[in-house]
Amino acid sequence: MEYRILGKTGLKVSSLGFGGIPIQRIDAEGTKVLMHKMMDAGINYIDSARGYTVSEEYLGYALEGIREHFILATKSMARDKEGMARDIDISLKNFRTDYIDLYQFHNPNAAQLEQILAPGGAMEAMLEAKAAGKIGHIGITLHSLDVFEQVVEMDWVESVMFPYNIVETHAEAMIAKCTEKNIGFIAMKPLAGGALEDAALAMRFVCANPNVSVVIPGMAAEKELIQNLAAANDVRPLSADELTAMQMIRDQLGTNFCRRCNYCQPCTAGLNISGMFTFEAYHNRYGLQEWAAGRYMALPKQASDCVDCGACEERCPYHLSIRQMLKKVAESFGK
Ligand code: SF4
Ligand code: SF4
Repeated sequence: MEYRILGKTGLKVSSLGFGGIPIQRIDAEGTKVLMHKMMDAGINYIDSARGYTVSEEYLGYALEGIREHFILATKSMARDKEGMARDIDISLKNFRTDYIDLYQFHNPNAAQLEQILAPGGAMEAMLEAKAAGKIGHIGITLHSLDVFEQVVEMDWVESVMFPYNIVETHAEAMIAKCTEKNIGFIAMKPLAGGALEDAALAMRFVCANPNVSVVIPGMAAEKELIQNLAAANDVRPLSADELTAMQMIRDQLGTNFCRRCNYCQPCTAGLNISGMFTFEAYHNRYGLQEWAAGRYMALPKQASDCVDCGACEERCPYHLSIRQMLKKVAESFGK
C-alpha cells in the first residue's frame, strides 16, 4: 500500500481510503468484518458523514479495539455554530471515540460558506472543538468548482474533497493548486456515482494523479475491496490502451449524466429521481430491458408523474436538466 501526506494535516494516509456511504446497505457486523480486512490490507483512511444515516454508528461498532489503526474523517451539513457543535458531539458518540482526525464542512455553496465563516457560523464550533482536542483538522467537501476556487486561497483549509474521475476532470487545475498550497486532496466519486462500469480502470485513473492524496470509493463487500486494492496497488503508468479506453468512455458519457448523489431530493411529487436514471441506463445502455422495466414499473412513482416544479434542478450540483431527462426516461419506459 502506498501512503501519501494529506496536505498540511501532516497525516500519512493510504492512497486507497474507504468511502462510508454504502455500508448503509449492510449491517454493523458486516462493517466490522470489512474494517478488519481493510486494516490487514493497510488501508487507514475512513470517510463518513453525519448525513449517511447509520454509517458513523456502524463504524463506531466496527472499530472497537482497532480505532487507533485508522484516520477517521466525517462531515456535517450544519452551517451555524450551535448545529456544528451538536453534530461534532454526535459523531464522537457514534464513532465511540474521543477524537476525530478530520472534520469537514459538507458541501456548502457560496452563500452557505459565507454563513459558516460569519460570526455565529459553524467555523466557530470547529475551532472550539479543535482547541478542545475533539477534532484534529478542518476540511471541506464540495461539488462546486466556484467554491473550490475560493477555498484554495483560505488558510484554514487543510483538505478539500471533490469529485474526480475519468469523466469529471474539470477540477484538475484546482487539484494541482492544492498541492501548491499544501492542501490535502481527497478524491470522491472515482466511479462517477456508478456511471463508470470498469472499476479497475476508473481507480487506475484517479490513483495515477500524484496530486490526489487519497481516493475513497464506497465499499460494502469484500470483492469491491479486493478489486480496489488491486487497482490502487498497480502503480504502473497508464498505458496507451488504457488512455484510449478512457477517452472512449468520455466520448460515450459526456458530462450530462446523473452521479446519484441525491442532492436533488426530496422531489415534490415523490419521484426517486436518481433511481429512474439508473434503470434507464440499464435499459438503454446495458441491454437489461426486461429487468430494468420491471424494476422501474415497481417504483411508487414514474417519470411521467413529475409535476414540472423545477425544485430538483435548483438543488442538483451538476445543473442537470432533470425535467428534460425525465421526459426521456418516460419515453424509454412508456410511462
Ligand atoms: S421537477 Fe419533477 S422531478 Fe423535479 S422536484 Fe419537481 S416534480 Fe420532482
Ligand atoms: S439529478 Fe443531480 S442531484 Fe439528483 S442524483 Fe443526479 S446528479 Fe445528484
